[in-house]
Amino acid sequence: EHHKETLEFQTEVKQLLHLMIHSLYSNKDIFLRELISNASDACDKLRFEALSDPSLYENDAELRIRVDFDKAARTITITDNGIGMNREEVIQNIGTIARSGTREFFSKLSGEQSKDANLIGQFGVGFYSAFIVADRVTLTTRRAGMTAEHGVRWESDGSGAYTLETVEHPARGTEVVLHLKEGEDEFLNDWRLRQVIQTYSDHIPLPIEMRKRNEQDEPTDEWEVVNKASALWARPRNEISEDEYKAFYKHVAHDFQDPLAWTHNRVEGNQEYISLLYVPSKAPFDLFDRDQPHGVKLYVRRVFIMDGAEKLMPRYLRFIRGVIDSSDLPLNVSREILQSNKLIDNMRAGSVKKVLGLLEGLAKDEPEKYKTFWTEFGRVMKEGPGEDYANREQIAKLLRFASTENDSAEQTVSLEDYINRMKPGQEKIYFITAESYNAARHSPHLEIFRKKGIEVLLLSDRVDEWLMSHLFEFQGKAFQSVAKGDLDLSKIGSPEEKAEQEKIEQEAKGLVERIKSALGDEVAEVRVSHRLTDSPSCIVLNEQDMALYMQQMLKRAGH
Ligand code: ADP
Ligand code: MG
Repeated sequence: EHHKETLEFQTEVKQLLHLMIHSLYSNKDIFLRELISNASDACDKLRFEALSDPSLYENDAELRIRVDFDKAARTITITDNGIGMNREEVIQNIGTIARSGTREFFSKLSGEQSKDANLIGQFGVGFYSAFIVADRVTLTTRRAGMTAEHGVRWESDGSGAYTLETVEHPARGTEVVLHLKEGEDEFLNDWRLRQVIQTYSDHIPLPIEMRKRNEQDEPTDEWEVVNKASALWARPRNEISEDEYKAFYKHVAHDFQDPLAWTHNRVEGNQEYISLLYVPSKAPFDLFDRDQPHGVKLYVRRVFIMDGAEKLMPRYLRFIRGVIDSSDLPLNVSREILQSNKLIDNMRAGSVKKVLGLLEGLAKDEPEKYKTFWTEFGRVMKEGPGEDYANREQIAKLLRFASTENDSAEQTVSLEDYINRMKPGQEKIYFITAESYNAARHSPHLEIFRKKGIEVLLLSDRVDEWLMSHLFEFQGKAFQSVAKGDLDLSKIGSPEEKAEQEKIEQEAKGLVERIKSALGDEVAEVRVSHRLTDSPSCIVLNEQDMALYMQQMLKRAGH
Protein backbone atom coordinates (compact mmCIF):
# COMPACT_ATOMS: atom_id res chain seq x y z
CA GLU A 1 0.00 0.00 0.00
CA HIS A 2 3.05 2.27 0.04
CA HIS A 3 3.29 2.26 -3.72
CA LYS A 4 3.69 5.50 -5.56
CA GLU A 5 0.84 6.60 -7.77
CA THR A 6 1.12 9.10 -10.62
CA LEU A 7 -1.79 11.42 -11.27
CA GLU A 8 -2.41 14.09 -13.91
CA PHE A 9 -3.18 17.65 -13.01
CA GLN A 10 -6.50 19.03 -14.10
CA THR A 11 -6.07 20.95 -17.39
CA GLU A 12 -6.69 24.28 -15.68
CA VAL A 13 -3.98 23.56 -13.13
CA LYS A 14 -1.51 22.95 -15.93
CA GLN A 15 -2.45 26.27 -17.48
CA LEU A 16 -2.21 28.03 -14.16
CA LEU A 17 1.21 26.56 -13.45
CA HIS A 18 2.52 27.56 -16.82
CA LEU A 19 1.24 31.08 -16.48
CA MET A 20 2.39 31.48 -12.94
CA ILE A 21 5.96 30.57 -13.74
CA HIS A 22 6.14 32.81 -16.76
CA SER A 23 4.25 35.88 -15.72
CA LEU A 24 5.16 36.23 -12.07
CA TYR A 25 8.89 35.75 -12.21
CA SER A 26 9.57 39.43 -11.55
CA ASN A 27 7.62 38.99 -8.34
CA LYS A 28 9.19 35.74 -7.30
CA ASP A 29 9.56 36.56 -3.57
CA ILE A 30 5.84 36.03 -3.17
CA PHE A 31 6.19 32.24 -3.16
CA LEU A 32 7.15 32.45 0.49
CA ARG A 33 4.26 34.73 1.33
CA GLU A 34 1.84 32.30 -0.28
CA LEU A 35 3.21 29.23 1.46
CA ILE A 36 3.26 30.99 4.83
CA SER A 37 -0.26 32.25 4.21
CA ASN A 38 -1.39 28.65 3.60
CA ALA A 39 0.42 27.46 6.72
CA SER A 40 -1.34 30.16 8.71
CA ASP A 41 -4.73 29.22 7.21
CA ALA A 42 -4.04 25.59 8.11
CA CYS A 43 -3.46 26.58 11.74
CA ASP A 44 -6.68 28.63 11.69
CA LYS A 45 -8.59 25.64 10.38
CA LEU A 46 -7.22 23.44 13.13
CA ARG A 47 -8.34 25.98 15.71
CA PHE A 48 -11.81 26.06 14.25
CA GLU A 49 -12.20 22.27 14.16
CA ALA A 50 -10.73 21.98 17.63
CA LEU A 51 -13.58 24.12 18.95
CA SER A 52 -15.75 21.05 18.78
CA ASP A 53 -12.96 18.45 19.17
CA PRO A 54 -10.01 19.61 21.32
CA SER A 55 -8.31 16.21 20.98
CA LEU A 56 -7.21 17.33 17.50
CA TYR A 57 -4.44 19.32 19.20
CA GLU A 58 -2.77 16.03 20.16
CA ASN A 59 -1.22 17.79 23.21
CA ASP A 60 0.41 20.35 20.96
CA ALA A 61 -1.69 23.49 20.92
CA GLU A 62 1.18 25.92 20.28
CA LEU A 63 0.56 26.59 16.63
CA ARG A 64 3.52 27.87 14.65
CA ILE A 65 5.18 28.01 11.27
CA ARG A 66 8.84 27.21 10.58
CA VAL A 67 11.02 28.21 7.67
CA ASP A 68 14.33 26.44 7.17
CA PHE A 69 16.87 25.96 4.40
CA ASP A 70 19.62 23.54 3.52
CA LYS A 71 22.45 25.02 1.52
CA ALA A 72 23.95 21.72 0.48
CA ALA A 73 20.67 20.14 -0.58
CA ARG A 74 19.51 23.47 -2.09
CA THR A 75 16.12 23.26 -0.42
CA ILE A 76 13.79 25.54 1.49
CA THR A 77 11.31 23.95 3.88
CA ILE A 78 8.12 25.48 5.26
CA THR A 79 6.49 23.52 8.07
CA ASP A 80 3.29 24.08 10.02
CA ASN A 81 1.53 22.12 12.76
CA GLY A 82 -1.91 23.03 11.47
CA ILE A 83 -4.77 20.88 10.24
CA GLY A 84 -2.83 18.89 7.60
CA MET A 85 -4.55 16.98 4.81
CA ASN A 86 -5.63 13.43 4.15
CA ARG A 87 -5.17 11.79 0.78
CA GLU A 88 -8.48 12.98 -0.72
CA GLU A 89 -7.88 16.50 0.49
CA VAL A 90 -4.43 16.58 -1.13
CA ILE A 91 -5.92 15.50 -4.45
CA GLN A 92 -8.77 17.97 -4.12
CA ASN A 93 -6.75 20.95 -2.92
CA ILE A 94 -3.43 20.58 -4.68
CA GLY A 95 -4.38 18.76 -7.88
CA THR A 96 -7.61 20.50 -8.83
CA ILE A 97 -9.20 23.91 -8.84
CA ALA A 98 -12.70 23.46 -7.55
CA ARG A 99 -14.05 26.96 -8.06
CA SER A 100 -16.91 27.08 -10.49
CA GLY A 101 -16.33 29.20 -13.57
CA THR A 102 -12.66 28.19 -13.66
CA ARG A 103 -12.81 26.89 -17.20
CA GLU A 104 -14.49 29.99 -18.50
CA PHE A 105 -11.97 32.07 -16.65
CA PHE A 106 -9.05 30.32 -18.30
CA SER A 107 -10.56 30.71 -21.72
CA LYS A 108 -10.10 34.46 -21.26
CA LEU A 109 -6.35 34.25 -21.00
CA SER A 110 -4.68 36.04 -23.88
CA GLY A 111 -1.15 34.71 -23.82
CA GLU A 112 0.03 38.25 -23.28
CA GLN A 113 2.06 38.20 -20.10
CA SER A 114 1.24 41.49 -18.47
CA LYS A 115 -2.48 41.09 -19.07
CA ASP A 116 -2.50 37.54 -17.85
CA ALA A 117 -0.49 38.40 -14.77
CA ASN A 118 -3.40 40.62 -13.78
CA LEU A 119 -5.90 37.88 -14.39
CA ILE A 120 -3.80 35.51 -12.36
CA GLY A 121 -3.98 38.00 -9.57
CA GLN A 122 -7.72 37.86 -9.77
CA PHE A 123 -7.54 34.11 -9.55
CA GLY A 124 -5.18 34.03 -6.62
CA VAL A 125 -1.68 32.65 -6.98
CA GLY A 126 -1.44 30.37 -3.99
CA PHE A 127 0.41 27.12 -3.62
CA TYR A 128 1.56 26.82 -7.22
CA SER A 129 3.69 29.93 -6.87
CA ALA A 130 6.24 27.54 -5.33
CA PHE A 131 7.11 26.56 -8.88
CA ILE A 132 8.33 30.05 -9.68
CA VAL A 133 11.55 29.23 -7.83
CA ALA A 134 11.45 25.44 -7.50
CA ASP A 135 11.69 22.73 -10.13
CA ARG A 136 10.48 20.10 -7.69
CA VAL A 137 8.14 20.48 -4.72
CA THR A 138 7.58 17.80 -2.10
CA LEU A 139 4.66 18.19 0.25
CA THR A 140 4.31 15.79 3.16
CA THR A 141 1.31 16.07 5.40
CA ARG A 142 -0.68 14.33 8.08
CA ARG A 143 -4.15 15.37 9.03
CA ALA A 144 -4.90 16.22 12.67
CA GLY A 145 -6.57 13.31 14.42
CA MET A 146 -5.14 10.61 12.15
CA THR A 147 -2.32 8.25 13.08
CA ALA A 148 1.28 8.50 11.86
CA GLU A 149 0.95 5.87 9.14
CA HIS A 150 -1.64 8.03 7.39
CA GLY A 151 0.88 10.54 6.15
CA VAL A 152 0.66 11.55 2.50
CA ARG A 153 3.53 12.60 0.26
CA TRP A 154 2.83 14.63 -2.85
CA GLU A 155 5.55 15.50 -5.31
CA SER A 156 5.67 17.29 -8.63
CA ASP A 157 8.03 19.03 -11.00
CA GLY A 158 5.22 21.40 -11.99
CA SER A 159 4.82 20.17 -15.53
CA GLY A 160 1.83 17.90 -16.01
CA ALA A 161 1.64 15.32 -13.28
CA TYR A 162 2.32 14.61 -9.63
CA THR A 163 2.98 11.52 -7.56
CA LEU A 164 1.21 10.52 -4.41
CA GLU A 165 2.22 7.97 -1.80
CA THR A 166 1.22 7.03 1.68
CA VAL A 167 4.03 7.54 4.17
CA GLU A 168 4.73 7.38 7.88
CA HIS A 169 4.58 10.97 9.16
CA PRO A 170 4.35 11.43 12.93
CA ALA A 171 4.29 15.23 12.87
CA ARG A 172 0.84 16.75 12.53
CA GLY A 173 0.44 19.29 9.76
CA THR A 174 2.24 20.01 6.54
CA GLU A 175 5.81 20.29 5.38
CA VAL A 176 6.59 21.77 1.98
CA VAL A 177 10.08 21.28 0.57
CA LEU A 178 11.16 23.40 -2.39
CA HIS A 179 14.01 22.05 -4.47
CA LEU A 180 15.31 25.27 -5.92
CA LYS A 181 15.87 25.83 -9.60
CA GLU A 182 19.32 26.51 -10.89
CA GLY A 183 20.08 30.17 -10.26
CA GLU A 184 17.76 30.70 -7.28
CA ASP A 185 20.45 30.26 -4.64
CA GLU A 186 19.88 33.77 -3.33
CA PHE A 187 17.12 32.24 -1.20
CA LEU A 188 19.56 29.87 0.52
CA ASN A 189 20.43 32.69 2.81
CA ASP A 190 19.26 33.39 6.33
CA TRP A 191 19.19 37.15 5.93
CA ARG A 192 17.36 37.03 2.60
CA LEU A 193 14.61 34.75 3.92
CA ARG A 194 14.12 36.86 7.05
CA GLN A 195 13.87 39.92 4.85
CA VAL A 196 11.17 38.35 2.67
CA ILE A 197 9.24 37.18 5.74
CA GLN A 198 9.41 40.60 7.32
CA THR A 199 8.32 42.28 4.12
CA TYR A 200 5.37 40.07 3.34
CA SER A 201 4.44 38.05 6.40
CA ASP A 202 5.23 40.19 9.40
CA HIS A 203 1.52 40.61 10.12
CA ILE A 204 0.77 36.88 10.35
CA PRO A 205 -0.60 36.56 13.87
CA LEU A 206 1.23 33.26 14.46
CA PRO A 207 4.93 32.94 15.22
CA ILE A 208 7.07 32.29 12.15
CA GLU A 209 10.32 30.72 13.33
CA MET A 210 13.75 30.26 11.84
CA ARG A 211 16.81 28.57 13.29
CA LYS A 212 19.08 30.51 15.58
CA ARG A 213 22.59 30.70 14.22
CA ASN A 214 25.84 30.43 16.16
CA GLU A 215 28.90 32.69 16.06
CA GLN A 216 30.15 30.92 12.94
CA ASP A 217 26.80 31.65 11.32
CA GLU A 218 25.87 27.97 11.40
CA PRO A 219 22.34 26.82 12.12
CA THR A 220 21.61 25.47 15.62
CA ASP A 221 18.72 23.37 16.94
CA GLU A 222 17.11 26.35 18.58
CA TRP A 223 14.39 28.37 16.88
CA GLU A 224 13.47 32.04 17.14
CA VAL A 225 10.50 34.07 16.06
CA VAL A 226 11.27 36.34 13.12
CA ASN A 227 7.96 38.14 12.57
CA LYS A 228 6.01 40.47 14.85
CA ALA A 229 3.51 37.65 15.37
CA SER A 230 0.98 40.02 16.81
CA ALA A 231 -2.43 40.73 15.42
CA LEU A 232 -2.05 43.71 13.11
CA TRP A 233 -5.61 44.89 13.67
CA ALA A 234 -5.05 45.13 17.42
CA ARG A 235 -2.32 47.72 16.99
CA PRO A 236 -3.14 51.44 16.97
CA ARG A 237 -3.88 52.82 13.54
CA ASN A 238 -1.08 55.36 13.55
CA GLU A 239 1.49 52.61 14.13
CA ILE A 240 0.55 50.66 11.04
CA SER A 241 2.03 51.60 7.69
CA GLU A 242 0.15 51.52 4.39
CA ASP A 243 2.37 48.66 3.28
CA GLU A 244 1.51 46.66 6.37
CA TYR A 245 -2.18 47.16 5.76
CA LYS A 246 -1.74 46.06 2.17
CA ALA A 247 0.34 42.99 3.03
CA PHE A 248 -2.23 41.89 5.57
CA TYR A 249 -4.98 42.33 3.01
CA LYS A 250 -3.24 40.01 0.57
CA HIS A 251 -3.19 37.30 3.19
CA VAL A 252 -6.79 37.59 4.40
CA ALA A 253 -8.21 38.14 0.94
CA HIS A 254 -6.01 35.60 -0.89
CA ASP A 255 -5.56 38.43 -3.35
CA PHE A 256 -2.52 39.31 -5.38
CA GLN A 257 -3.42 42.96 -5.83
CA ASP A 258 -3.57 45.89 -3.46
CA PRO A 259 -6.90 46.71 -1.83
CA LEU A 260 -8.86 49.75 -2.99
CA ALA A 261 -9.63 51.04 0.50
CA TRP A 262 -10.02 49.95 4.08
CA THR A 263 -11.54 50.99 7.38
CA HIS A 264 -10.01 50.09 10.73
CA ASN A 265 -11.98 50.68 13.90
CA ARG A 266 -11.94 49.91 17.56
CA VAL A 267 -15.38 49.99 19.13
CA GLU A 268 -15.59 50.49 22.86
CA GLY A 269 -18.48 50.76 25.26
CA ASN A 270 -20.90 48.06 26.35
CA GLN A 271 -19.58 45.91 23.57
CA GLU A 272 -15.97 45.85 22.45
CA TYR A 273 -14.59 44.75 19.14
CA ILE A 274 -12.12 45.68 16.46
CA SER A 275 -12.87 45.57 12.77
CA LEU A 276 -10.47 45.88 9.88
CA LEU A 277 -12.42 45.73 6.63
CA TYR A 278 -11.14 46.02 3.09
CA VAL A 279 -12.67 46.79 -0.29
CA PRO A 280 -10.76 44.85 -2.99
CA SER A 281 -9.77 46.71 -6.13
CA LYS A 282 -11.03 43.96 -8.39
CA ALA A 283 -14.04 41.69 -8.20
CA PRO A 284 -13.24 37.97 -8.11
CA PHE A 285 -14.36 36.26 -11.29
CA ASP A 286 -16.89 34.23 -9.30
CA LEU A 287 -18.51 37.17 -7.54
CA PHE A 288 -21.94 35.98 -8.60
CA ASP A 289 -21.38 32.41 -7.55
CA ARG A 290 -23.88 31.89 -4.76
CA ASP A 291 -21.53 29.51 -2.96
CA GLN A 292 -18.71 31.97 -2.89
CA PRO A 293 -17.59 32.14 0.73
CA HIS A 294 -17.95 35.39 2.57
CA GLY A 295 -14.71 37.11 3.30
CA VAL A 296 -14.70 38.25 6.91
CA LYS A 297 -12.86 36.23 9.53
CA LEU A 298 -14.07 36.15 13.10
CA TYR A 299 -11.59 36.31 15.97
CA VAL A 300 -12.18 36.37 19.70
CA ARG A 301 -9.48 38.23 21.63
CA ARG A 302 -6.92 37.63 18.85
CA VAL A 303 -7.74 33.94 18.56
CA PHE A 304 -9.07 32.83 15.22
CA ILE A 305 -12.59 31.40 15.38
CA MET A 306 -13.91 31.04 11.89
CA ASP A 307 -13.55 31.94 8.24
CA GLY A 308 -16.10 33.49 5.97
CA ALA A 309 -18.60 34.10 8.73
CA GLU A 310 -21.80 34.76 6.79
CA LYS A 311 -23.37 36.27 9.83
CA LEU A 312 -20.86 39.10 9.86
CA MET A 313 -21.72 40.68 6.52
CA PRO A 314 -24.91 40.83 4.49
CA ARG A 315 -24.86 39.20 1.06
CA TYR A 316 -24.64 42.47 -0.83
CA LEU A 317 -21.34 43.19 0.93
CA ARG A 318 -19.95 39.71 0.32
CA PHE A 319 -16.94 41.16 -1.46
CA ILE A 320 -15.68 42.82 1.73
CA ARG A 321 -12.60 41.14 3.20
CA GLY A 322 -11.02 41.43 6.61
CA VAL A 323 -11.38 40.55 10.26
CA ILE A 324 -13.67 41.30 13.15
CA ASP A 325 -12.25 40.58 16.58
CA SER A 326 -14.66 40.44 19.50
CA SER A 327 -13.71 40.96 23.14
CA ASP A 328 -17.06 39.75 24.42
CA LEU A 329 -17.76 36.39 22.82
CA PRO A 330 -16.59 33.34 24.76
CA LEU A 331 -13.42 31.72 23.40
CA ASN A 332 -15.17 28.38 23.22
CA VAL A 333 -17.91 29.89 21.08
CA SER A 334 -19.83 27.22 19.20
CA ARG A 335 -21.23 27.27 15.69
CA GLU A 336 -24.71 27.30 17.22
CA ILE A 337 -23.96 30.43 19.22
CA LEU A 338 -22.75 32.10 16.05
CA GLN A 339 -26.02 31.42 14.29
CA SER A 340 -28.10 33.62 16.52
CA ASN A 341 -26.31 35.91 18.82
CA LYS A 342 -27.03 39.48 19.80
CA LEU A 343 -23.34 40.36 19.97
CA ILE A 344 -22.81 39.11 16.43
CA ASP A 345 -25.84 41.05 15.21
CA ASN A 346 -24.51 44.23 16.76
CA MET A 347 -21.03 43.75 15.34
CA ARG A 348 -22.55 43.16 11.95
CA ALA A 349 -24.73 46.25 12.10
CA GLY A 350 -21.78 48.36 13.24
CA SER A 351 -19.48 46.94 10.58
CA VAL A 352 -22.01 47.50 7.80
CA LYS A 353 -22.21 51.14 8.89
CA LYS A 354 -18.43 51.40 8.73
CA VAL A 355 -18.32 49.95 5.23
CA LEU A 356 -21.10 52.22 3.97
CA GLY A 357 -19.33 55.16 5.57
CA LEU A 358 -16.07 54.18 3.90
CA LEU A 359 -17.80 54.01 0.52
CA GLU A 360 -19.50 57.34 1.10
CA GLY A 361 -16.11 58.86 1.85
CA LEU A 362 -14.65 57.39 -1.32
CA ALA A 363 -17.52 58.74 -3.39
CA LYS A 364 -16.99 62.19 -1.95
CA ASP A 365 -13.23 62.48 -1.71
CA GLU A 366 -11.82 59.97 -4.19
CA PRO A 367 -14.18 59.87 -7.16
CA GLU A 368 -11.74 57.90 -9.33
CA LYS A 369 -11.54 55.14 -6.76
CA TYR A 370 -15.28 55.20 -6.32
CA LYS A 371 -15.69 54.75 -10.05
CA THR A 372 -13.47 51.68 -9.90
CA PHE A 373 -15.47 50.41 -6.98
CA TRP A 374 -18.76 50.93 -8.78
CA THR A 375 -17.55 49.24 -11.97
CA GLU A 376 -16.42 46.20 -10.01
CA PHE A 377 -19.11 45.90 -7.36
CA GLY A 378 -22.01 48.15 -8.37
CA ARG A 379 -24.22 45.30 -9.45
CA VAL A 380 -23.77 43.66 -6.07
CA MET A 381 -24.50 46.89 -4.20
CA LYS A 382 -27.80 47.05 -6.09
CA GLU A 383 -28.90 43.98 -4.13
CA GLY A 384 -28.60 46.14 -1.03
CA PRO A 385 -31.90 48.02 -0.83
CA GLY A 386 -33.79 44.73 -1.11
CA GLU A 387 -31.71 43.01 1.52
CA ASP A 388 -30.91 45.70 4.03
CA TYR A 389 -34.06 47.65 4.75
CA ALA A 390 -32.57 49.62 7.62
CA ASN A 391 -29.80 51.11 5.48
CA ARG A 392 -31.85 51.63 2.35
CA GLU A 393 -31.45 55.38 2.15
CA GLN A 394 -27.72 55.24 2.76
CA ILE A 395 -27.25 52.54 0.13
CA ALA A 396 -29.42 54.46 -2.33
CA LYS A 397 -27.06 57.40 -1.96
CA LEU A 398 -24.23 55.16 -3.14
CA LEU A 399 -26.02 53.94 -6.26
CA ARG A 400 -24.89 55.13 -9.68
CA PHE A 401 -26.83 55.02 -12.93
CA ALA A 402 -26.59 55.71 -16.62
CA SER A 403 -28.99 58.45 -17.59
CA THR A 404 -30.29 60.50 -20.51
CA GLU A 405 -28.14 63.31 -19.14
CA ASN A 406 -24.91 61.80 -20.47
CA ASP A 407 -24.41 59.93 -23.66
CA SER A 408 -22.71 56.96 -22.07
CA ALA A 409 -23.47 53.52 -20.72
CA GLU A 410 -21.17 54.25 -17.83
CA GLN A 411 -22.99 54.42 -14.51
CA THR A 412 -21.97 57.70 -12.96
CA VAL A 413 -25.16 59.55 -12.02
CA SER A 414 -26.12 59.52 -8.35
CA LEU A 415 -29.66 60.08 -7.12
CA GLU A 416 -28.48 63.29 -5.52
CA ASP A 417 -27.19 64.50 -8.90
CA TYR A 418 -30.55 63.62 -10.38
CA ILE A 419 -32.54 65.51 -7.76
CA ASN A 420 -30.35 68.56 -8.15
CA ARG A 421 -31.18 68.61 -11.85
CA MET A 422 -34.93 68.09 -11.49
CA LYS A 423 -37.15 70.54 -13.40
CA PRO A 424 -39.34 73.01 -11.50
CA GLY A 425 -42.58 71.19 -10.73
CA GLN A 426 -41.01 67.74 -11.18
CA GLU A 427 -41.79 65.52 -8.23
CA LYS A 428 -40.66 62.11 -9.34
CA ILE A 429 -37.48 60.33 -10.23
CA TYR A 430 -38.06 58.83 -13.65
CA PHE A 431 -36.39 55.65 -14.81
CA ILE A 432 -36.68 53.00 -17.46
CA THR A 433 -35.58 49.36 -17.27
CA ALA A 434 -34.57 47.45 -20.39
CA GLU A 435 -32.48 44.52 -21.54
CA SER A 436 -29.55 46.64 -22.57
CA TYR A 437 -28.32 50.17 -22.33
CA ASN A 438 -29.10 50.72 -25.99
CA ALA A 439 -32.62 49.34 -25.69
CA ALA A 440 -33.22 51.69 -22.78
CA ARG A 441 -31.73 54.67 -24.55
CA HIS A 442 -33.79 54.17 -27.70
CA SER A 443 -37.08 53.45 -26.00
CA PRO A 444 -39.97 55.49 -27.44
CA HIS A 445 -41.09 56.09 -23.87
CA LEU A 446 -38.29 58.59 -23.57
CA GLU A 447 -39.44 60.90 -26.35
CA ILE A 448 -41.58 63.20 -24.29
CA PHE A 449 -38.95 63.33 -21.55
CA ARG A 450 -36.32 64.31 -24.05
CA LYS A 451 -38.60 66.96 -25.45
CA LYS A 452 -39.28 68.42 -22.05
CA GLY A 453 -35.66 68.09 -20.97
CA ILE A 454 -36.53 65.79 -18.09
CA GLU A 455 -33.76 63.38 -17.09
CA VAL A 456 -34.51 59.66 -17.06
CA LEU A 457 -32.32 57.01 -15.44
CA LEU A 458 -31.46 54.20 -17.85
CA LEU A 459 -31.37 50.84 -16.10
CA SER A 460 -30.21 47.71 -17.84
CA ASP A 461 -28.43 45.47 -15.33
CA ARG A 462 -30.08 42.18 -14.58
CA VAL A 463 -30.49 43.17 -10.95
CA ASP A 464 -32.19 46.51 -11.74
CA GLU A 465 -35.71 45.15 -11.86
CA TRP A 466 -35.16 43.69 -8.41
CA LEU A 467 -33.61 46.92 -7.20
CA MET A 468 -36.52 49.03 -8.38
CA SER A 469 -39.03 46.76 -6.73
CA HIS A 470 -37.40 47.60 -3.40
CA LEU A 471 -36.63 51.23 -3.86
CA PHE A 472 -39.69 53.41 -3.56
CA GLU A 473 -38.35 56.82 -2.87
CA PHE A 474 -35.21 58.78 -2.28
CA GLN A 475 -35.16 61.97 -0.20
CA GLY A 476 -38.94 62.08 -0.37
CA LYS A 477 -39.09 61.73 -4.17
CA ALA A 478 -40.93 58.71 -5.49
CA PHE A 479 -39.51 56.57 -8.28
CA GLN A 480 -41.62 56.29 -11.40
CA SER A 481 -41.08 53.97 -14.33
CA VAL A 482 -41.69 55.84 -17.57
CA ALA A 483 -43.13 52.62 -19.02
CA LYS A 484 -45.78 52.12 -16.37
CA GLY A 485 -49.05 53.77 -15.42
CA ASP A 486 -50.34 57.18 -16.26
CA LEU A 487 -47.66 59.78 -16.59
CA ASP A 488 -48.82 63.20 -15.59
CA LEU A 489 -46.13 65.51 -16.82
CA SER A 490 -48.52 68.42 -17.12
CA LYS A 491 -47.19 70.19 -14.06
CA ILE A 492 -43.76 70.14 -15.58
CA GLY A 493 -43.90 72.69 -18.35
CA SER A 494 -46.25 75.54 -19.36
CA PRO A 495 -50.07 75.97 -19.07
CA GLU A 496 -50.25 76.48 -22.85
CA GLU A 497 -48.89 73.00 -23.33
CA LYS A 498 -51.65 71.60 -21.13
CA ALA A 499 -54.36 73.33 -23.17
CA GLU A 500 -52.77 72.07 -26.36
CA GLN A 501 -52.85 68.51 -25.05
CA GLU A 502 -56.52 68.70 -24.13
CA LYS A 503 -57.33 69.94 -27.59
CA ILE A 504 -55.51 67.01 -29.18
CA GLU A 505 -57.33 64.54 -26.94
CA GLN A 506 -60.68 65.94 -28.05
CA GLU A 507 -59.78 65.74 -31.71
CA ALA A 508 -58.53 62.16 -31.45
CA LYS A 509 -61.59 60.79 -29.63
CA GLY A 510 -63.06 59.16 -32.73
CA LEU A 511 -59.78 57.53 -33.71
CA VAL A 512 -59.29 56.13 -30.20
CA GLU A 513 -62.75 54.55 -30.30
CA ARG A 514 -62.04 52.88 -33.63
CA ILE A 515 -58.67 51.48 -32.49
CA LYS A 516 -60.23 50.22 -29.29
CA SER A 517 -62.95 48.30 -31.10
CA ALA A 518 -60.43 46.92 -33.60
CA LEU A 519 -58.15 45.57 -30.88
CA GLY A 520 -60.95 44.40 -28.64
CA ASP A 521 -59.78 42.26 -25.69
CA GLU A 522 -56.14 42.47 -26.68
CA VAL A 523 -55.78 45.67 -24.72
CA ALA A 524 -57.21 47.06 -21.53
CA GLU A 525 -57.41 50.58 -22.75
CA VAL A 526 -56.46 52.90 -25.59
CA ARG A 527 -55.42 56.41 -24.66
CA VAL A 528 -54.11 59.51 -26.31
CA SER A 529 -50.57 59.78 -25.08
CA HIS A 530 -48.40 62.82 -24.66
CA ARG A 531 -45.36 60.78 -23.92
CA LEU A 532 -44.48 60.28 -27.59
CA THR A 533 -43.11 62.88 -29.90
CA ASP A 534 -41.86 60.91 -32.91
CA SER A 535 -43.31 57.39 -32.69
CA PRO A 536 -47.04 57.03 -33.47
CA SER A 537 -47.84 54.65 -30.59
CA CYS A 538 -46.41 52.55 -27.79
CA ILE A 539 -47.51 49.88 -25.34
CA VAL A 540 -47.87 50.97 -21.73
CA LEU A 541 -48.13 48.74 -18.69
CA ASN A 542 -50.30 49.08 -15.67
CA GLU A 543 -48.42 50.25 -12.59
CA GLN A 544 -48.40 46.75 -11.13
CA ASP A 545 -47.51 44.87 -14.31
CA MET A 546 -44.15 43.31 -14.71
CA ALA A 547 -41.90 45.25 -17.00
CA LEU A 548 -42.42 44.22 -20.57
CA TYR A 549 -39.00 42.77 -21.16
CA MET A 550 -39.33 40.64 -18.05
CA GLN A 551 -42.50 39.20 -19.56
CA GLN A 552 -40.64 38.52 -22.76
CA MET A 553 -37.83 36.87 -20.86
CA LEU A 554 -40.22 34.60 -19.02
CA LYS A 555 -42.01 33.74 -22.23
CA ARG A 556 -38.76 32.79 -23.88
CA ALA A 557 -37.90 30.66 -20.87
CA GLY A 558 -41.15 28.78 -21.51
CA HIS A 559 -43.42 30.22 -18.82
P1 ADP B 1 -5.99 29.23 -1.28
O1 ADP B 1 -5.05 29.40 -0.13
O2 ADP B 1 -6.41 30.55 -1.85
O3 ADP B 1 -7.15 28.32 -0.97
P2 ADP B 1 -3.78 27.83 -2.42
O4 ADP B 1 -3.41 27.46 -3.80
O5 ADP B 1 -2.81 28.68 -1.68
O6 ADP B 1 -5.19 28.52 -2.48
O7 ADP B 1 -4.00 26.51 -1.60
C1 ADP B 1 -4.90 25.54 -2.06
C2 ADP B 1 -5.44 24.69 -0.96
O8 ADP B 1 -4.46 23.71 -0.55
C3 ADP B 1 -5.79 25.43 0.30
O9 ADP B 1 -7.09 25.98 0.21
C4 ADP B 1 -5.72 24.32 1.33
O10 ADP B 1 -6.93 23.58 1.35
C5 ADP B 1 -4.63 23.43 0.81
N1 ADP B 1 -3.36 23.72 1.48
C6 ADP B 1 -2.32 24.41 0.98
N2 ADP B 1 -1.32 24.49 1.88
C7 ADP B 1 -1.73 23.86 2.98
C8 ADP B 1 -1.16 23.60 4.27
N3 ADP B 1 0.04 24.06 4.61
N4 ADP B 1 -1.90 22.87 5.15
C9 ADP B 1 -3.13 22.42 4.83
N5 ADP B 1 -3.72 22.64 3.65
C10 ADP B 1 -3.03 23.34 2.73
MG1 MG C 1 -3.20 30.24 -0.23
